[in-house]
Amino acid sequence: MLTTGEKPGVGTYKCANCGTIVGLDDPDDTLSPCPSCDNTEFEEVCYLCENEASVSGEFGRDVSFVRCETCGKYYLGEPSMWVKHYREEAPREKRTMLSAYTRERFERGENPPEFGDSNALKEIITKYENKTLDEKLENLIWYIRKKSSQFGDSVSWDARKDYPITYSLSPEGFTKIRDLAMEKDLLDWPARGAGLKLKEEGWKLGTELMKRE
Ligand SMILES: [Zn+2]
Ligand SMILES: [Zn+2]
Repeated sequence: MLTTGEKPGVGTYKCANCGTIVGLDDPDDTLSPCPSCDNTEFEEVCYLCENEASVSGEFGRDVSFVRCETCGKYYLGEPSMWVKHYREEAPREKRTMLSAYTRERFERGENPPEFGDSNALKEIITKYENKTLDEKLENLIWYIRKKSSQFGDSVSWDARKDYPITYSLSPEGFTKIRDLAMEKDLLDWPARGAGLKLKEEGWKLGTELMKRE
């Protein structure tokens, strides 16, 4: 936990009491009390999803390396510019599409992307905004299949962290896709708090999707 008066460096910080996000764009900036509730404790959060994350710098480079349970891993070039401009220019829905992109790469075992050029960011955002319902559904099935070692396995999940897997804007988006997969008889969710299990059709589809990689 970070406290008012510290100089935690360039980054985005969330008030531990009310969740207000503050951005520091200069390494010498001091953390002030929360502008909304005057609380003095903060935690560092992911630039993309604003959940708690581990953020570190790289020696000699103006870049942040972020490890986030929601987004996976990524590099962010010129984080001070991101805090100054990009956060405001790109509303949360847009940034969430970058979470979907990084999480997908992470799950596929690809290298963490490095975000910089805003045209490249726009391209990614547009691609993920245009994902169809079928693509969202298929990605969830693919993910559950990948996490299962055999038919009947139960895969733990947390909509608050896993929503980027369904290219959704929020945890509610994830539960919507989960419910759709259940309606289509692809997926089973035996009880509240339980893991997700592929049904026979879901297993077949998931296996097919894994071959397409
Ligand atoms: Zn606050
Ligand atoms: Zn994140």
